[in-house]
Amino acid sequence: MEKGSLLYEGKAKRVYATEDPALLIVSYKDDATAFNGLKRGTIEGKGVINNRMSNALMRYLAKEGIPTHYVKELNDRDTLVKKVKIVPLEVIVRNMAAGSFAKNYGVEEGTAFDSPTIEFSYKNDALGDPLLNEYHALALGLAAPEEIEEIKTLSFRTNELLKAFWLARGVTLVDFKLEFGRLPDGSIILADEISPDTCRLWDSETGKKLDKDRFRRDLGGVEEAYREIMGRLEDRTEADGAAADENR
Ligand code: ADP
Ligand code: UDP
Repeated sequence: MEKGSLLYEGKAKRVYATEDPALLIVSYKDDATAFNGLKRGTIEGKGVINNRMSNALMRYLAKEGIPTHYVKELNDRDTLVKKVKIVPLEVIVRNMAAGSFAKNYGVEEGTAFDSPTIEFSYKNDALGDPLLNEYHALALGLAAPEEIEEIKTLSFRTNELLKAFWLARGVTLVDFKLEFGRLPDGSIILADEISPDTCRLWDSETGKKLDKDRFRRDLGGVEEAYREIMGRLEDRTEADGAAADENR
């Protein structure tokens, strides 16, 4: 499948049309932004890592029954996905206090919750992605009530699956952001990406941050952290694959 016209250039990815109107190609860049675009930079090799990691995680989620946009990895940076109409909500699931939650509510970062929590932001760069509740989303016509229910169910299920996936690799899933979209038949599927740009991932033993917070907070070792978290994913996934082969 070849790239057609450039439909959209975002902060981290480019989106291209293809000869099939139901499919798009997303192309991952090394560009990094934070604080609603105020901080900008480049993380060498990030596009390759985010592409491959997001695809591996979506394949795993799909196997476990989560519908996703993933179709096929075309090369290191480009992936074929199902075209959806994005629901303009950023869905954030948290297992521990961190980032804006820790700041807004005066909780120490790393405080674990008894059960996961969810929140929504209005995906709107001009407004700075403001936090909103379900009633606000309904009032703004961003999603139907059944869609919000479906999004919550899929998000919590995705959290359980991703938490277990990372735990097996010595990594704590602190929080993450998801985006969902509608297929032409109206069904809701997981879209966009799942990567160190969109998740907080801490080494379970040392607490070392292996995600975009190293860039946001100028902690140094940004590229190394992206390579380390990708290594964790690949080493264990290969071992699982080999074990599965032996059992065949
Ligand atoms: P941003 O728009 O926040 O700068 P990106 O640089 O990641 O983000 O751009 C990718 C864009 O593609 C996002 O707006 C995202 O919502 C959108 N997108 C992701 N997956 C799909 C999909 N399957 N179909 C249509 N749009 C998608
Ligand atoms: N996040 C994201 N995109 C955003 C905002 C947040 O991917 O536009 C992710 C972020 O990486 C973290 C989680 O969502 O894993 C929660 O982020 P938070 O609300 O704490 O915001 P931040 O501290 O990044 O401003």
